[in-house]
Amino acid sequence: MVVAGELIVCEYFITLVARRRSANLINPMTLIADLVSLHLVDSQVRALRSRLDSAEHYVALQEKQRLLLTSRMDEAKSQIRQHQATGVNHEAESGSVKARIDTLRNQLNTSTNPKQYAAVLNELKLLQTQRDEIDELTIDQIQKTDDLQTKLVELERLSAERVKVRDAGQAELNTCRGEVGSRLGELDRERTVAAAKIPQRDLDIFNRAADLYDGEAMAELVAVDARRREYSCAACNMELPVEKYASLASNPNLSVTCTSCHRILYLGQVSSAVG
Ligand SMILES: [Zn+2]
Repeated sequence: MVVAGELIVCEYFITLVARRRSANLINPMTLIADLVSLHLVDSQVRALRSRLDSAEHYVALQEKQRLLLTSRMDEAKSQIRQHQATGVNHEAESGSVKARIDTLRNQLNTSTNPKQYAAVLNELKLLQTQRDEIDELTIDQIQKTDDLQTKLVELERLSAERVKVRDAGQAELNTCRGEVGSRLGELDRERTVAAAKIPQRDLDIFNRAADLYDGEAMAELVAVDARRREYSCAACNMELPVEKYASLASNPNLSVTCTSCHRILYLGQVSSAVG
């Protein structure tokens, strides 16, 4: 509850603050104005760096995926070689068994002794079964090799696609470096000059907030209802005590931070008075 006497005092206070504030606006060479100048150049530096970083990150990601595909292709090739070698061994084994079968068939044809005939016939059947089993294993190896060849073709297709995407990203990155590089150098120098005007304590507060909020180190202190002296932070929307407005408006060489987000506060007109 605000009583009449307090209202009169407050009206006087607001008028006084407004008068001082207009005076401050005539001379933008105040700490707040310097901080706003730093903020303007710092946010441009961060935006350009962020553009470069994203382009670099994108290319690195494509290259990482390409390397992963290369590793999978190498693995598939190694497995193909193993299955082919195993298949060749099975074929050789099958050939040896076949030679033995051929010899036994000749013996069978020339056999005159029924007992010997039965023994040869029995061995022949066993060897044929053994050869069938070996041939099954050979076919299995051929099937596995074929499947891996199909997989390899698909991996090669994906890898070629990834190379195209990576190269396009690299070309874009080079363009970006060309466009951004020299401008970034200029802005870095401007930022150094702007930062040199700020006392270390305030610069530390600024840098902390800028790192925390991706360059949004400053926030406008806005009047929600000036008559009721209700103010808030334009960045986090939290209500601010009237003292924050009073400090800022009466002493533009004192940095005032939002009680909630800790961004450095400024009055809207200050930024328009800069540059
Ligand atoms: Zn805030």
